[in-house]
Amino acid sequence: MSQVMVKAEGVHKRFGALEVLKGVSLDVQRGEVVCLLGASGSGKSTFLRCINHLEKIDSGRLWVDGELVGYRQVGDRLHELRDHEVCRHRAEVGMVFQRFNLFGHMTALQNIIEAPIHVRKMPKAQAVQRAHELLARVGLADRGDAYPNQLSGGQQQRIAIARALAMSPKLMLFDEPTSALDPELVGEVLDVMKSLARDGMTMVVVTHEMGFAREVADRVVMMHQGQIIESAPPEQFFGAPQHERTQQFLSKIL
Ligand code: ADP
Ligand code: MG
Repeated sequence: MSQVMVKAEGVHKRFGALEVLKGVSLDVQRGEVVCLLGASGSGKSTFLRCINHLEKIDSGRLWVDGELVGYRQVGDRLHELRDHEVCRHRAEVGMVFQRFNLFGHMTALQNIIEAPIHVRKMPKAQAVQRAHELLARVGLADRGDAYPNQLSGGQQQRIAIARALAMSPKLMLFDEPTSALDPELVGEVLDVMKSLARDGMTMVVVTHEMGFAREVADRVVMMHQGQIIESAPPEQFFGAPQHERTQQFLSKIL
């Protein structure tokens, strides 16, 4: 068990000629909540996707809980992980996207038990019991039998969070989890995220919800054109941003 949950060192990622991450270095401590801000196109989603094995980095190093992402180190040689090893690593990280991505033909409860049963081989009765606990935790104890299209966007996103939690992840990544929601539904999703943070979950959250960042983040990190240009506790970040780009960004968004 590593005290540093995520460690990025000089991470580079390009798509063809476009260099999207230009040497990103960041440490996220166990139990820490880091909010990642930055203009559209600055590389936030790509960085999260790299952490979760959804993109391969071109150079630099990335560790999750002390384990190298994408590679196994044998002596001083690096071997690319096989697919089943990637799956095993990915199962330990929960990810919540802007679009809820629930399986439309399954009820809320079935969505939640799917991965524990099929990936973790958890007995069904145990998975169902845990799903009920998680439904209660996200405030939807009575909606387990509902299909996604019978739920509001905010409820679907809370189910998506419960589904991620069902795998008992050691790290949760959120990519603009409230951006697709009607304004009146944002609060219920942020409340679930706040309670997770209070319970000590390690979280990296890409968000434009400055109130959430101010209140919940231990650290706020600003990305600009594929680099981290500022990283500070919220009081300092919002109260006295150092970088001109951060000041510009905040003046537009606040
Ligand atoms: P953000 O989440 O900060 O808006 P992204 O990480 O989504 O930024 O994207 C950063 C840049 O990388 C954008 O210019 C985007 O168009 C480009 N990009 C992202 N994914 C791909 C991809 N799979 N192929 C090509 N370009 C991509
Ligand atoms: Mg994005």
